[in-house]
Amino acid sequence: MRILILSDLHANIEAFHAVLTDAEGAYDTTICLGDIVGYGASPRECIEQLDILAPQWIVRGNHDRVCAGITDSRTFSPVARAAIEWTRGQLSPATLARLAALPTGPVAIDAHTTICHGAPSDEDFYLLDSADARLAFASQSAALCLHGHTHAQTIFRLQGFAVYDETPARRTRLLVSLDAGSRYLINPGSVGQPRDGDPRAAYALLDTDSRTLELRRVPYDIPGAQQRIRAAGLPEPLARRLATGD
Ligand code: ZN
Repeated sequence: MRILILSDLHANIEAFHAVLTDAEGAYDTTICLGDIVGYGASPRECIEQLDILAPQWIVRGNHDRVCAGITDSRTFSPVARAAIEWTRGQLSPATLARLAALPTGPVAIDAHTTICHGAPSDEDFYLLDSADARLAFASQSAALCLHGHTHAQTIFRLQGFAVYDETPARRTRLLVSLDAGSRYLINPGSVGQPRDGDPRAAYALLDTDSRTLELRRVPYDIPGAQQRIRAAGLPEPLARRLATGD
């Protein structure tokens, strides 16, 4: 089975469309690792597009959770809080109820693979470096855990007691053969608000038969997404950061 892996869409429909065009014909089903909404100006459009894809597996992100009112926005920055309050006003009670019903990770998709938003033991954990990965591996028994939340494409591999950071340098596509003797924590990166210095939309494709995973980047209409953010009256830094990917 070939699976499209999407994370941190953040209401960026321009980036979402570019990813779907780039991935066309390369997948049979979809995984979403959360943060469908927040920051961007197209929450309704992204939810509708995701409904069309109908992900077979999905977990909620912290922005989905706060938008749905499950937890408050106290831990959010003022910019993130302003965006989530604006987003709430854009969504119907029925849509907010659907966000509230999204499952918390981790969710097992097969015998080898689990998905979560931040880390297996904590959906809010920022898994940024090898030390973070070592902590996360301690609570992960699956061979592969797909996660999001940091908005950076990363690959951490555990072999024996050693953790290797195999995060790729800036490139458009990287095919990884998953080694049967290792465990992996892999972040496909963010579709809608990359923060790893590469402003292109990020996603991944997993082939569960060949045990390969491909990380991909795709350019999209950044000025269009910025224009929508400004027209919506959302905080200016949310528009600016799309151009720099930080
Ligand atoms: Zn996010």
